[in-house]
Amino acid sequence: MNNGKILIVPKQIISANENREIYYDKAVEVKDGVISAFVDKNKIDFPNYDGKIYNVPDLTLIPGFIQTHVHLCQTLFRGLADDLELLDWLQKRIFPYEMAHSYESLKVSAQLGIHELQTSGTTTILDMGTINHQEAVFESLIESKMRAFSGKCMVDENELLPEFKESTGESLASSRKLAEQFHGAANGKIKYAFAPRFVLSCSGKLLQETFNMLKDFPGALFHSHTSENKDEVEEVRRRYNMENVEYFDSLGVLSDRTVLAHGIHVSDSERETLKKTGTRIAHCPSANLKLGSGIANIPKYLEEGVSVSLGADGPPCNNNLSMFKEMRLAALIQKPIHGSTSMDAETVFHLATIEGAKALHIDDITGSIEPGKKADLVLLDLNKTNQSLLNEDKNLYSNIVYSAGRENVIDVMIEGEWVVRNSGSVIYDERELVERGRKELKKLMERAKV
Ligand SMILES: [Zn+2]
Repeated sequence: MNNGKILIVPKQIISANENREIYYDKAVEVKDGVISAFVDKNKIDFPNYDGKIYNVPDLTLIPGFIQTHVHLCQTLFRGLADDLELLDWLQKRIFPYEMAHSYESLKVSAQLGIHELQTSGTTTILDMGTINHQEAVFESLIESKMRAFSGKCMVDENELLPEFKESTGESLASSRKLAEQFHGAANGKIKYAFAPRFVLSCSGKLLQETFNMLKDFPGALFHSHTSENKDEVEEVRRRYNMENVEYFDSLGVLSDRTVLAHGIHVSDSERETLKKTGTRIAHCPSANLKLGSGIANIPKYLEEGVSVSLGADGPPCNNNLSMFKEMRLAALIQKPIHGSTSMDAETVFHLATIEGAKALHIDDITGSIEPGKKADLVLLDLNKTNQSLLNEDKNLYSNIVYSAGRENVIDVMIEGEWVVRNSGSVIYDERELVERGRKELKKLMERAKV
């Protein structure tokens, strides 16, 4: 008999709940996309259970990862912008490529990114889109069943590539139109995140009026970048005679609905401002290292109670989208500076799950395994040669953060629907995606003439 209920019976459950409990004696019941109950493993009547049983005694159940800063529009540009600093990276490669996107190239770029994210265990993202054809990203998110915030990138000033911008009015109007169309789509899984790119590509008017639109779309976010690179903050100082975070604050756009990627070159008083306003920092360690930007003082943010979560940023500045790599680096890069006890595996695992949900204000529905939350779940096989063989609480976090990778991800479920089974996508044919991506990339490179 099958009434739509699924009972997942794993080896163990890492809950990421308030008390960080790990269960060895429980199974998870999923009904209508929601975790309906924990069931005592010893009391399951297997032959007579009134639903579908997924009995996986070798696998470990964790909450799906939440990445709070990615750029699906850039997946197609992976490997095409290596070994450059931020402003050159934008001017010479990323802006020209983004400007050359067609609907088709953007669509396959998003699909390729989602495929990699889901097969490596990410179930929720905060995505920054591009200026044109943004509906292609939303359509890909909806078809893939992803939980996501996204929004077209807003640029009304651009000294790096003057043709790649819109007027302030156009940018605001087209963003509002997309928000009206997609905010709350797919049963509420899709939400809008207004995305003024960064201070150097946005007028003060654009930033303020964008922030004002948040009140018309409950649950929406304000998503931007800050203080990533030394030349960037120097240019902000030259233009506005203020530090980057200080300038955002002077416009009144910092709040607990504001998610800023990076936050590397910030003063103590800026950090205090981020704390006071409830602003969220999305930490992207791979991108920060690859662009040579610097190392954000994450232990200090955490000590002071600033919200920190993790993201892979764009494929051309990483060049991966796997949360496993971000977790590992988020831990490792701090140790030479703050000592080997800083950023322990347990802390980092929670930044990748429940803290991401809190940053996006969706911790009431995802980010941990608790009855009443949506079933955004990942099953890992930790019985591989890349794993510690000691199966105790402490080692589970160590295994996942320091040793595991995409190869350990077996099944992924978003709101009760499988999107990955046996390590393969249920949504996409990987080979077809790669072939179509290659064709679109070839055409895009001809249009971009970089
Ligand atoms: Zn970014």
